[in-house]
Amino acid sequence: MSQRFSILIFALIMAVLPLIPGMPPYWIVLLDNIGLAALVAMGLVLLTGVGGLTSFGQAVFCGFGAYTTAVLSTQYGLSPWLTLPASLVVSGIAAVILGIVTVRLSGHYLPLSTIAWGIGIYYLFSKLEFLGRNDGIGRVPPLQIGSYQMLDAGSIYYAIWFFVIASAILTLNLLDSRTGRGIRALRRGHIAAEAFGVATGWAKLLVFIHAAVLAGLSGWLYAHFQRAVMPTPFGAQAGIEYLFIAVVGGAGYVWGGVLGAAIVVILKEVLQGYLPLIFGGQGQLEIIVFGIMLVALVQLAPGGVWPWLVGLLPFKTTSQRPDTSVALAAPARAAAPAGPLLRIDNARKQFGGVTAVNDVSFDVGAREILALIGPNGAGKSTTFNLITGVLKATSGTVTFAGQPIIDAAPQTITQLGISRTFQHVKLVPDMTVLENVAIGAHLRGRSGAIASMLRLDRADEAALLAEAARQIERVGLGDQIDHLAGSLSLGQQRIVEIARALCVNPMLLLLDEPAAGLRHMEKQRLATLLRQLRDGGMSVLLVEHDMGFVMDLADRIVVLDFGTRIAEGTPQAIMKNPDVIKAYLGGVA
Ligand code: ADP
Ligand code: MG
Repeated sequence: MSQRFSILIFALIMAVLPLIPGMPPYWIVLLDNIGLAALVAMGLVLLTGVGGLTSFGQAVFCGFGAYTTAVLSTQYGLSPWLTLPASLVVSGIAAVILGIVTVRLSGHYLPLSTIAWGIGIYYLFSKLEFLGRNDGIGRVPPLQIGSYQMLDAGSIYYAIWFFVIASAILTLNLLDSRTGRGIRALRRGHIAAEAFGVATGWAKLLVFIHAAVLAGLSGWLYAHFQRAVMPTPFGAQAGIEYLFIAVVGGAGYVWGGVLGAAIVVILKEVLQGYLPLIFGGQGQLEIIVFGIMLVALVQLAPGGVWPWLVGLLPFKTTSQRPDTSVALAAPARAAAPAGPLLRIDNARKQFGGVTAVNDVSFDVGAREILALIGPNGAGKSTTFNLITGVLKATSGTVTFAGQPIIDAAPQTITQLGISRTFQHVKLVPDMTVLENVAIGAHLRGRSGAIASMLRLDRADEAALLAEAARQIERVGLGDQIDHLAGSLSLGQQRIVEIARALCVNPMLLLLDEPAAGLRHMEKQRLATLLRQLRDGGMSVLLVEHDMGFVMDLADRIVVLDFGTRIAEGTPQAIMKNPDVIKAYLGGVA
């Protein structure tokens, strides 16, 4: 069943729900509250569930949205439809300011800081004179279309659920795009994403703004629903509750936010309604039971209720394979001058007292497979990191296609035509093979967040996915294209990394231990692929411990030991070199 069809059915159900004869008006109020909470939770799904940035402070953004419209509509007489963009902009600007200070933090400091500004801004709301202090602002006008005033719960219901469904569609569109892949790589795999040009700092700020604008929208609706604004619903307790909603529903899923809102709002209402009857009006008891039930729910369905429900469905949503005939323009690059493609001259890297790379020099020619070998700790991975700009060299130079790249940023180096795989595989396990590989083509796409949300990115996206699919076919993983990367064997994951690197359309491919964990047949297939790439004009620099594999494949070999180059030559010469045998080959043989 296609996603669009499911959303249509859901929208139809929501449209007819209030029309059911005998539906108690009080239920409509509950549905309104569910919609309002769902908007906030949807933002948290993106921020916390997908992006990994836990926020306890989302309620204050509802406050920014609610107070903006309350002030503008009561004191300046503006129509609510004019205050809507104002509310969203104010929430968005607040998110930029708070986001810039927040997303830089890591570990526990990030959620802690959201609690801090969550409490601080709540006090600000309740102390400021022009926001009415603790009494808030009353007489907020209702929403109105023509002469139709949305005065009661039943009439504003359609406005609320229109915004919930529209926001869900925009959010789903965003996640399913070039920008969305960058966001989904934030939690696990941001190092690799950065290497392929994903601006992870911007992606974090973007999800922060997106979540805040959705909360601001919820606040705007709330103000015109309640027709009054008071500080209480924007405090730290509400912030915690929103986070709970997202986690209970399924923090990684947009519809999980909606489901979580339904579960929590209804549960709270039922407990508040019935427990006092059973226990004779003992106050606050419902909060304790509510807490216990939420903890139990999280235990029963650790990933949230939504993925658990989807798992029970008899049918699966299907994903389409990309049309590989769509072309992606090759990146514009200056032709490399004659001479070696990559030249490393006296490169040195010191970590404190350890000299990991000790004045190493070597070249990689055009159409050459060069192997870098040596014992563990010899400095091979560090050399890779110097070439790719991940580490700054202490001294020395690296030149690629005639250009010095020693101080260039990793993204610039990727654009020049060097791409890599990692010794410790860095894929996003809960993204498909196709989506992971498409991250490699990130710099060859253009579309940004707004274009993605509005689906104006489809041509660009089709070209990126087609390129990713072609590279997956090329490395022989066509059958696994829609599998989750985390479900593949380690050896296959290494091959996925090669496909991702090929999406850069590189002139030089850097492979850090590509054959580790591969079976014999897989190694042979990898060797064939690398020879084909070389014969097609690409250069390959690889680090590898499997000597059979290296001797068979490499045109030339450079041997490192304790950060120093101890030999260089053809496989035959290296095999007989007494220094190499003493330092390395003797050990592995
Ligand atoms: P190889 O890949 O050849 O096994 P590495 O390049 O990973 O070796 O490491 C070379 C040396 O540099 C080792 O002694 C290692 O402990 C040290 N080293 C590598 N990275 C760092 C780092 N970030 N900080 C401190 N020491 C490091
Ligand atoms: Mg290494």
